[in-house]
Amino acid sequence: MARIADVLTAGPTFSFEFFPPRDDDAQVELYNTLRDLQTLDPSFVSVTYGAGGSTRDRTHDLVVSILNDTTMTPMAHLTCVAHSRAELADILERYDAAGVENILALGGDPPADGSEFRSELEHAIDLVELVRSVGNFSIGVAAHPEGHPRSPDRISDRKHLAAKLALADFAITQFFFDAEDYFGMIDELADLGVTKPVVPGIMPVTNVSQVTRFAQLSGAAFPTDLAERLHAAGDPDEVRRIGIDVATELCRTLLDGGAPGLHFYTLNKSPATREIYQRLASDGYVAATRAS
Ligand code: FAD
Repeated sequence: MARIADVLTAGPTFSFEFFPPRDDDAQVELYNTLRDLQTLDPSFVSVTYGAGGSTRDRTHDLVVSILNDTTMTPMAHLTCVAHSRAELADILERYDAAGVENILALGGDPPADGSEFRSELEHAIDLVELVRSVGNFSIGVAAHPEGHPRSPDRISDRKHLAAKLALADFAITQFFFDAEDYFGMIDELADLGVTKPVVPGIMPVTNVSQVTRFAQLSGAAFPTDLAERLHAAGDPDEVRRIGIDVATELCRTLLDGGAPGLHFYTLNKSPATREIYQRLASDGYVAATRAS
């Protein structure tokens, strides 16, 4: 086990994100993916938390299973939405008792179906404080290079992020496609005195149907020229190749510019992440021990 804050001090991290499987078939696919990606010796892996607590036990069970049954260091995502403070404290105490050391503290989103919900903690920063009070966790938070979609303006968003990072240990970003969005955010945070590591999130696009869905879900601007290239591609293999080329180039630019690591949104599949990782390794971006 390792604390991610410590791992980040040792050089660029390579980490992978998963979501809890919904059924038995998805579970088999995820375990194959975990087995495959474990061979890359990732710095850590993270497990998402379903909106409104919908994966409360599945997130917990997957995180603890990764901790106990693999060589990988897990981080549990947790959101404020639809939970009382006592429920969140209970979830955190269970993680602490199980030996889980890393938590990604998130605000979460209102239910997509518009149903009523009550949250005792309003913002992620309130959850960071709660996590600190429950155990000796290493704490990450979310960052949005293009600004959070619900923010009235970017300046206030950066100030809230800076305040959150003053209490947390590191941040991981929403995915984005233009490196300048990431570097611009880092500069703005530096102006606010932030020195904590902010790890960029990478989403390799491997099929055309993802294009508009991803952009809608995340609020990330999908570059018009990339969308046109993907739509013009002759077959799924060409789409995949373009997506992997573009993601690999983004990774190189980010690492060359000093990013403290890369966090891959795997969608519970390994091939695209593995291919990008291996290209980066052959370019010398991954330490020899890690790439072997
Ligand atoms: P916050 O930090 O609370 O920010 C939300 C909004 O409130 C922003 O506009 C911010 O500027 C504003 N704000 C913050 N603090 C204050 C304040 N004190 N006063 C006024 N305004 C304030 N969602 C899930 O449901 N499950 C997951 O597992 C999950 N994993 C994620 C992983 C990553 C790496 C990222 C980037 C996002 C993830 N999300 C997940 C999505 C996340 O929950 C949403 O983006 C959510 O809308 C905001 O979360 P946050 O932690 O940034 O919230």
